[in-house]
Amino acid sequence: MPGTRKKTTYRQWVVYLPALIAAIGIFIIGLYSINVDHERVRADSRSFVTNQLNLVRARLEGAIFGNIQLVRSLVAIISIEPNLSQSRFVDLGEQIFQEGHQLRNVAAAPDLVVSLMYPLEGNEKAIGLDYRKNDAQREAAFRARDLGELIIAGPLDLVQGGRGLIGRVPVFKGNKTDDPGAFWGLVAAVIDVDKLYEVSGLSSNKLPIEIAIRGADATGPSGRQFYGPAKVFGSNPVLADVNLPYGSWQIAAIPEGGWPSYSTRQTWLFILLLMVEVLIVAPMVIIGNLLRERHVYINQLEATKLSAEKANMAKSEFLASMSHELRTPLNAILGYAQMLQYDPKHPLSKSQNGYVESICSGGDHLLELVNDVLDLAKIEANQFKPYYEEVSANEVVKECVSMTRHLGDQREIKVIDQFSSGTDYVLYTDQLRLKQVLLNLLTNAIKFNDAGGKVIIDGHRSHDRYLRISVIDTGIGIARKDFDRVFQMFQRVGSDPMIARDGYGIGLTVTKLLVERMMGRIGFESEEGGGSTFWVELPISSLPDKRQL
Ligand code: ADP
Repeated sequence: MPGTRKKTTYRQWVVYLPALIAAIGIFIIGLYSINVDHERVRADSRSFVTNQLNLVRARLEGAIFGNIQLVRSLVAIISIEPNLSQSRFVDLGEQIFQEGHQLRNVAAAPDLVVSLMYPLEGNEKAIGLDYRKNDAQREAAFRARDLGELIIAGPLDLVQGGRGLIGRVPVFKGNKTDDPGAFWGLVAAVIDVDKLYEVSGLSSNKLPIEIAIRGADATGPSGRQFYGPAKVFGSNPVLADVNLPYGSWQIAAIPEGGWPSYSTRQTWLFILLLMVEVLIVAPMVIIGNLLRERHVYINQLEATKLSAEKANMAKSEFLASMSHELRTPLNAILGYAQMLQYDPKHPLSKSQNGYVESICSGGDHLLELVNDVLDLAKIEANQFKPYYEEVSANEVVKECVSMTRHLGDQREIKVIDQFSSGTDYVLYTDQLRLKQVLLNLLTNAIKFNDAGGKVIIDGHRSHDRYLRISVIDTGIGIARKDFDRVFQMFQRVGSDPMIARDGYGIGLTVTKLLVERMMGRIGFESEEGGGSTFWVELPISSLPDKRQL
């Protein structure tokens, strides 16, 4: 059936489920731990980069403001001395711009026309530059004037070579002048960018971080990048703002060589994880395999058992019907043989009588065997249903003893009944079958006894409301090695094979099955050459729950 096969396959794979869950669980936990470790390393690296970047940024800001401060001092003087000459301007320049700055030159442009320059040397060409007429610088000059703020432009390539930042400061006349507050013009200072980078440590080879800056013309994060490798801004950098008097730059940093990837330690951790995985999961898979194989074997065993049971049942059914079919003609043979023996009109001669006698005793044996086989087959084919009733154990024992006494006399064996005249016991059992059981035990006790021996039948109540009836004989006994075979079918375990005794080794098998079907027990004690005691225990009346029957 496809459904059953599917179910079996599903069941077979279910045994690997714990291994699979463990494998996934260990893998997830392991990866999570490795990632946590990796994140910690990254966080450490990020905080290191942040510290380094803040240092550089502070130095850069400091340097720019230092330069601006110097320019502002000059502007302050111009605002109260608006009509100063070139020589005065140079004087002031020499006084203000001494050591510790990165200014290349400072120009002053009253009414937006450059007329003062410090130092003049090398910058003469700029004298006379009119910002209003110069396309490149007009807009920036107007912005500084209109905003009234110091505006930093650049970095840009300078005509004199190198790169510079241009700071433009609008100048307004001071209080003590002829027109206080009026716009005087512009002061433009050029800061040498390369020197600026140098003093702030940006260009140092020892810097353990890679830096990039954007926001040319103080346009902040949206402005053009003007310093450092292009990749920095795209590598999840640490960011900071460099604040300028008006606007800002954005500075970014990553560790030299990029952010740390998975370390060797983490690779080892991963290998360790795989090893743990194998160590834990492999035995589970092996166990799963064993379970699956066990499952397959159990299925096979069940199938084999089922077919064996079916075959046994078929055999028992066959035997039951065969034995039944055999009994009818056998009974007819025996009946006609007896009729021959006892026909008064045609008496048999002595020799004929002897032949008929043989037919009768052979037939009796055969009938006995057929009856036993029939009983056995019926029990095994589940066709045996005891007929329960209240039965006087004393009566049954008495009857059985009187039936076997004759056999005992024939063999010079005394059968002693110590039970039937004693305490009355009423059993709840099948009377006919009880008789069959006791007769079997009694005939065995006589059969396996020696001339002059004794057979005693006795009974008493056993510990749990059962009556135990024992048949004790002084016969040949049973060797300990044969104990196991006594109740087995067709096993005859007589100690002396030379002594031929009637029987087929089937009586005790039937007896045991009958007793057990009647909710009883059977057993024996024996000693080779020292006689045997066979006993049966059956429930005393009113004890069994009749609903179970
Ligand atoms: P059988 O048809 O041979 O009597 P049973 O099944 O009744 O078969 O007994 C099985 C075997 O157990 C006997 O062949 C005999 O060897 C042994 N046996 C049974 N009862 C006794 C007894 N009372 N004393 C000694 N041996 C016995």
